[in-house]
Amino acid sequence: MSFQNIIGQDTAIKALKGIIAERQVIGSYIFMGPDGVGKRTTAIALAKAINCIREVQEGACDCASCKKIDSGNHPDVFVILPEGKRGAIKIGKIRDVIYEASLKPYEGKKRVFIINDAEAMTEEAQNALLKVLEEPPDNHILILTSCNLAGVLPTALSRCKVLKFYNLSRDEIQPFLKSRGAEDKEAVLFSHMAMGSLGRAMAFKEKNMMAKRDRLVNNFFFRKSALLHEDLLTEDMGDDKEEGLNLLLCWYRDMLVSKFTQEDKELFNIDRSVEISSYAQRFSKEKLERDISAIVNTIGYIKRNVNPKIALFDMAVELKRS
Ligand SMILES: [Zn+2]
Repeated sequence: MSFQNIIGQDTAIKALKGIIAERQVIGSYIFMGPDGVGKRTTAIALAKAINCIREVQEGACDCASCKKIDSGNHPDVFVILPEGKRGAIKIGKIRDVIYEASLKPYEGKKRVFIINDAEAMTEEAQNALLKVLEEPPDNHILILTSCNLAGVLPTALSRCKVLKFYNLSRDEIQPFLKSRGAEDKEAVLFSHMAMGSLGRAMAFKEKNMMAKRDRLVNNFFFRKSALLHEDLLTEDMGDDKEEGLNLLLCWYRDMLVSKFTQEDKELFNIDRSVEISSYAQRFSKEKLERDISAIVNTIGYIKRNVNPKIALFDMAVELKRS
């Protein structure tokens, strides 16, 4: 993956190319922006560009260095991800980084440390990293990625050059989906559901997320039995509760939008726009706004590892309240 393959993000890519051309890739960087818009891919492309034996920046390169980075086997490129049930990056992992950062590049030009989801670092881990962030040793680069600035200590943030990444447009997402085998109709629908994220668009294509959405909303809204919907909701969310909540959030958001406009292009769930606007009649704008807040809050609780069963039950009760 080179810069050329990255969709959108023209400002960040232009800035990085300039920095590389002037041989000024030094210090620490933080790539800020929503999930699934290319931050990690760009970090890898940067690691490749600065270590490429042929100094290729555009297009594919099959030099030994680029190949090793692509396969995750380069001894000078480190990719750190959150681990464990809580998805954290703990102090032990950061101590490894600090140790590795004290060594010279083994075979590359620069050692590159990519710390994904920097907000997942514990406070202790972030504090330990400050000194290296401030002034990485010669020939060492740190790249942090984050979708949540609030989770990164100001002291850590202030030591990094910030590059911003943005949501992608549907026009940017659709050709990509088609290049990965999506049919025209699917590409349009998934680009609407993607909320600007390529990662999310691909998840719709590959993980059968439309079926999950249908199960979720059909059982919660349209089932005519006296069964406790609140419990069903927890089951239908499946393993990835946050994703399930995002699907529900999109549905509610569309109901609210349909109160203001009848244009499909403004909706996420364009395949069910008729049901959405007729169902939305039952609710006031105020009620929908309250419900959206309840879902957003619940996503926050799930992120913070509150017992999902309780959080979802409470939310379902709130949503059913008239
Ligand atoms: Zn190369």
